Amino acid sequence: MNDVRIDDLPVRDELRGKSPYGAPQLDVPVRLNTNENPYPLPEPLVERIAERVREAARNLNRYPDRDAVELRTKLAEYLTTTSGYEVGVADVWAANGSNEVIQQLLQTFGGPGRTAIGFEPSYSMHGLIARGTGTGWISGPRNDDFTIDVAAAEKAIAENQPDVVFVTTPNNPTGNAVPPETVLALYEAAQAAKPSMVVVDEAYIEFSHGDSLLPLLAGRPNLVISRTMSKAFGAAGLRLGYLAAHPAVVDAVQLVRLPYHLSAVTQATALAALEHTGTLLGYVEQLKAERDRLVSELRATGYEVVESDANFVQFGRFEDSHTAWQKILDQGVLVRDNGIPGWLRVSAGTPEENDAFLDAVRELKKEQS
Ligand code: PMP
Repeated sequence: MNDVRIDDLPVRDELRGKSPYGAPQLDVPVRLNTNENPYPLPEPLVERIAERVREAARNLNRYPDRDAVELRTKLAEYLTTTSGYEVGVADVWAANGSNEVIQQLLQTFGGPGRTAIGFEPSYSMHGLIARGTGTGWISGPRNDDFTIDVAAAEKAIAENQPDVVFVTTPNNPTGNAVPPETVLALYEAAQAAKPSMVVVDEAYIEFSHGDSLLPLLAGRPNLVISRTMSKAFGAAGLRLGYLAAHPAVVDAVQLVRLPYHLSAVTQATALAALEHTGTLLGYVEQLKAERDRLVSELRATGYEVVESDANFVQFGRFEDSHTAWQKILDQGVLVRDNGIPGWLRVSAGTPEENDAFLDAVRELKKEQS
């Protein structure tokens, strides 16, 4: 029985020969490979989570609030205060991580016979979730400096007429933000072609030098902004993602969401974290400063670095990025090899973690010169 493999099973044709998402989870001293927030939640918040979860536990015999109204209200308040753009509870939807938000969007607006486009390199899960939902995936172009070539992107949209267009800003893994004019141009192109949905993935927006694109939602019902508590809120383990869009979009994703998809424990924990937004955003400021330090130190060491608006930095260039990745790992520091020839990505950690990383890459530079 042990010799049965995936491809021996009657799996869907498009899954044959494919591998799952797999950032290595290695036990090394310094882990800077998955863009996590390095700061554990502050103790008063841990206490508050325990309190709210204890309350929730008393009702675990019941299903949770299916529409997560209290949580969506607080998320809407957070978006309004941080962006200055008025967002209401009806404009917000939440799910288990923004990956699930994206899955629900593709189940609603993509699916068999439909396509989605992203401009790559970008977040690989957009394509993988497309595949998982039976949505055809189109890999759109990017310039050599990883900016989006607007004319080429407009052409790709006009030619392929995708049903869903993904724009990640700040982009993962490259770190650069997409100018609002570019997003607007792509939105216009997408409306002229089909019309189709444009999903702006703002997983890292709190780390950006610039502002959220939330105000672009006004008068654009086919635009969706996707967000997460995994990065800025330092709560990757919580699994809480959300979107802001026209209320009709929120109604539409409810056609595909599983009933009671957000557990009462998740809702209670997220609500506790939202009570501590001020402290958590303080950590974001520290991480932004550390990110800027990584950029300047890497440059000073002679590396090429992509301008970063995220909590990570893409750096190179290496003749063989996998060998460079291994050499950095040999010094106890895990960074990410996204398979982009010549480049590696490092997440901003604590000052001590970043020092260890900088020591490792300085060592590597000495070896290479
Ligand atoms: N979007 C982007 C661009 C990401 O990099 C990530 C996580 N790496 C996600 C979405 C998903 O995050 P989560 O499911 O934890 O919200």
